[in-house]
Formats: sequence, C-alpha cells, structure tokens
Amino acid sequence: MKPFLYVTDLHGHAAKYERTFTLAKESAAALVINGGDISPSGRRHEDQERFYRTFLGPHFARYQEEGIRYLALTGNDDLGAFDGLLDEICAGYPLVTHLSRRMAQVGDHHFVGLDLVTDFPFRLKDRARRDAAGFAFGPQFGAGVLSTRTGFREIPDWPAYAGTLPTIEEELGALPKPPDPARAVYVLHGPPSGLGLDTIRGGAGVGSAATLAFLGRVQPLLSLHGHIHESPEESGTWRAKVGRTVSLQPGQSAAGLTVVIGRLDEMAFERKILPVE
Ligand SMILES: [Zn+2]
Repeated sequence: MKPFLYVTDLHGHAAKYERTFTLAKESAAALVINGGDISPSGRRHEDQERFYRTFLGPHFARYQEEGIRYLALTGNDDLGAFDGLLDEICAGYPLVTHLSRRMAQVGDHHFVGLDLVTDFPFRLKDRARRDAAGFAFGPQFGAGVLSTRTGFREIPDWPAYAGTLPTIEEELGALPKPPDPARAVYVLHGPPSGLGLDTIRGGAGVGSAATLAFLGRVQPLLSLHGHIHESPEESGTWRAKVGRTVSLQPGQSAAGLTVVIGRLDEMAFERKILPVE
C-alpha cells in the first residue's frame, strides 16, 4: 500500500506547502491530509481570501494532475466566512475534498473531519465550542468575534452565546458515521486531553476530554490532530494510544516542515522535520 502524508498547521506557509507536494511525489504518496489552520495567520480577510484564490486553488490543481488524493480540514485560525470559498475551490478538483464535518472514502478507509476546537482565550470564535456540558471557560483575551465575509461581528457575551451552540461532545456525536470504525481515520483539529498531545508552552494541557472519551468509545483505527504547534517539543510525545486507537499530533515546527509519513496497512508512522527556505 502506498503511504500517506499528514501535515497540520501550515498557516499559509507556501514553502511548507511546496515541500509537502515534493515529498508526496518523492515518496509516491497516494494521499495528503492537511489537518487544519491552512491559511495565513493573522486572521486578515484579504490575506486569507488571496491565499485561497491565488495559491491554494492552483496548488490543488497540481495534486489533481499528479493523481494524488488531498483531504483538507480547516482550523480555528481559518476564517469561517471563507468555508464556502474553500468548498468552491475544492469542487474544481475531484481528488480534493474539504473534510470539515464530512466523511470521505479513500481506498477501503473512511476519513472523518472536525474543524471545531475546545474554547480558548483567543478572540476569533468561529470554531470554538464548550467541550461538554458544564464547561468552565478560561480567561479571555477580549470580547469574542465571529467572522463575516467583510469583517468581524463582536459577541458581547461569549459564554452565553457558546451555551447556545452544540458542545464538542455533541459535534463529535453528530459527525458522519463510518461503516467500520476499525478502518476509520478521524482528522480532528483539536487534540484529546491526557496523552501529552495537547501541551502548551509551560507544560499545561489544553486538550479535549470529550475527544478522548469519543476515541475511547468509537475506537477508530487512527486519529490525527494538530492545533498546539509546540506540543511535541514540550511533552516529548507526538503519538499515543487510546485503547486500540493510535493518535498522532506531530505539531508544526518553526525549524522546518513537520510531516508524518504513514502506512495504514502496517500502522507505521514516521515524523520528520524537513528544511524549507
Ligand atoms: Zn495552528
């Protein structure tokens, strides 16, 4: 079986996208999975829209030409207002799928994606949710905002507003159900708690207890996460097990492209940090 590549939190870094594409060809990968926070950081509308239109569309065209399948998830730094634009772009390439809250079949494996994350201090709340009922909100950097196509809409009382939204636990439960969990891969931008896959600078864990419980109950073949770029450096861990499920969170290093080369038939995974310009 041909390998797959997993990258996450590329944040619009063109050289990292290019290196991923080159590696996909070099390693004869059948599939590339992008785990979210795909567009430039800074949450600026003009940067993200330009990135989708002038970079990502043509970039996907090259995967299409090479016959390499591509699954793209969004993350908390990707403005939700452009999800429709991402759909439009992906629709132009049969081999490219926008996986957020959707399921895609590749070979005899099903992939299911969730872009949403457990609430955090950052102001952009497009993809933030309470983890479960009774969630205790942490300190906030300011009033919450939601993106629109032209700007941001402020939410005066974020905890009250979040209380009207489904929790991560409920969002996980509402995802499409793969026919055979033992052959399913969940691509969940937020990492589970308690495994060292969610460690921020200073050593605190900010992962999702609801996600850990979900993986323990559903027992997919594999789960792929991102969100906390520095976690592997902080905890020394990028892979863990939840019962039979293997969970990977490679992070994303400032030193180069962090990428996992994986083989589902052997359940063999290698994390690399490759230099980029
Ligand atoms: Zn990120």
